[in-house]
Amino acid sequence: MSKKVLTLIIYVILITLLIFNGIFFFKNKAQSSSTLYAFDTVMDITLNGKNSEAALHEINREISYLEALLSTENENSEIFSLNNNGKALASEDTATLLSLALSYKEKTNNAFNPFVYPMVMEWGFVTKDYNVPNTEKINELVKTVNSSALTLTDNKALLSNGASIDLGGIAKGYATQKLIDICKENNIKSALLNLGGNVYALGTKSNGTKWNIAIKSPIESLDYLGYISVKNKCVITSGGYERFFEENGKIYHHIIDPETGYPADSGLLSVTIVSKDPILADAYSTALYVMGTDEAVKFWRSNADAFDCILFTDKEELIITEGIKNDFSSDYHYTICKK
Ligand code: AMP
Ligand code: MG
Repeated sequence: MSKKVLTLIIYVILITLLIFNGIFFFKNKAQSSSTLYAFDTVMDITLNGKNSEAALHEINREISYLEALLSTENENSEIFSLNNNGKALASEDTATLLSLALSYKEKTNNAFNPFVYPMVMEWGFVTKDYNVPNTEKINELVKTVNSSALTLTDNKALLSNGASIDLGGIAKGYATQKLIDICKENNIKSALLNLGGNVYALGTKSNGTKWNIAIKSPIESLDYLGYISVKNKCVITSGGYERFFEENGKIYHHIIDPETGYPADSGLLSVTIVSKDPILADAYSTALYVMGTDEAVKFWRSNADAFDCILFTDKEELIITEGIKNDFSSDYHYTICKK
């Protein structure tokens, strides 16, 4: 073989290798992201790492699967069937989430209450056909919700008379935990999972620094309450400003105080929970919003190992708990709550 032919063969081999390497590189992209609409909100997922595309695929599938299981409006969902028949066979995910919801109801002394569905429905937050119920109706709903019970035996769920379930206050936290599990199974060590403002930061950014999460402000005169830098933690916010309607100059929002049957009027405009556990954080963000500042701070003091929080009141006071004091920054004046 002449020297020329040999050189040509080597060139052809090298070019082929380069092309295949290129295809391989793109198939194992270092970053994948997607935006989708589920659980009545916009979700943004960004994954870093060479399995990111495959993991993203699984994540999209999991979100659709969970939504189909837990939706109160989808006639084929297990929760729809439970609410309409008073009983249902629950899959592992539904049973786990129902049992978690019951345990957070107890831990928060009923401030988080998964039985609020009849109230949420009556105020029109399900159909978006908003309505201020009359006093008799409210009193009737308070009785129903506060006497509601659910028994879970193996995979059978049974509701007491008239009870119905709303997992809207915890479902996104549960979905987040499932997505973290998928990331870990796929060896993804860096990701930002944003489920409609419920954010989980897995690991660090690709450059090795912590993720910086902005906390939305509930008042117009302020863009953000501040920023929190986190790693392997979620930042989950509940606020009346997220869903509300106005009637006769009064604002009615979607977080209901189960004791009164009215939208919580606790003096808090927004509650952000920072924690390693997104399910706990989702349940507690809703619960602390109902509790109000004093009770929320007391609750934090007895659970400070599990979470930290950022509270914003209707007097425009910003309060953060001491566990996040080194990770929080804001141009707005804030106080640090000590244990
Ligand atoms: P979140 O944005 O996590 O605070 O959840 C608010 C959603 O939870 C509402 O849209 C209702 O579907 C549901 N919800 C309202 N009030 C409560 C409550 N006191 N306990 C549990 N879930 C609630
Ligand atoms: Mg919540």
